[in-house]
Amino acid sequence: MQRRRRASAHTKGMTRREFLTWLVSLSGLAASGACSVGVLMAFLARRYEHSVLQVSPTPLPTHDLTPTAPPLPPEVIPRAEWNALPPNHMAEDEFGFASAENPTGWHVYSGDLATIYTTAVIHHSFPLLRDSGTMRALQDLHMQTRRWADIGYHFGIDGAGRVYEGRDIRVRGASVAGYNTGTLGIVLMGNFEVESPSGAQLFALQRLLHWLKQTYTLTHLAGHYEFNPTTACPGKNMRPYLSLLAESLRLQRGTGGYVPPKVQSKRRDQACC
Ligand SMILES: [Zn+2]
Repeated sequence: MQRRRRASAHTKGMTRREFLTWLVSLSGLAASGACSVGVLMAFLARRYEHSVLQVSPTPLPTHDLTPTAPPLPPEVIPRAEWNALPPNHMAEDEFGFASAENPTGWHVYSGDLATIYTTAVIHHSFPLLRDSGTMRALQDLHMQTRRWADIGYHFGIDGAGRVYEGRDIRVRGASVAGYNTGTLGIVLMGNFEVESPSGAQLFALQRLLHWLKQTYTLTHLAGHYEFNPTTACPGKNMRPYLSLLAESLRLQRGTGGYVPPKVQSKRRDQACC
């Protein structure tokens, strides 16, 4: 609290809720083009990083990276560029999708994805670290150790803010035990129990979420731990940013958007960590 008192004249003395309300009002300016949500997020992240969380000393970007609505699709590095293995449809434990109607487990959504996806779920790549973890290493972990058909997440973001294609977005993910249907899995490289997301990662995540929200009419943003309380994922140093991201993008927080599949598997879906 002592550090909060160092805030600028605009925020001096504000409670956290008042501060967030003020930020939301700023996001209205962003929508009108006066500034961008990205600038807002950068300010937010910098404020939290240095005044509340006391996490990474990494300076956050202050320049405008995020277009106002309609968002541009993010640059996504395709699977071929990170030497992804093809999915293994014979994987022993790709059981998240198994049912009487889908015994092999690999489930491709049919129909309009905008009617299926409701929630983005954020993960960290524990045990892989922020600046050294790779998509291929995650895929190897999921396919070789956990014996899943493919990397479980739909997108990955490395420490430099590069966004990677993960599991085919038309295929149900494998990242949230028991709640994979209709949830988009996004992993940030890092063990955010011991390190912090970079500004570049937060910017990239915000831009990706913005685009996903517009494209698939997402309504909710959740951390993995909210669906599966036994996990710390995406880590204590990432959790505060989830609410800030949700507020800046006008997404609801938590698991309320989840819609169970019509045919439930008797076995639990996979978890990520
Ligand atoms: Zn997770």
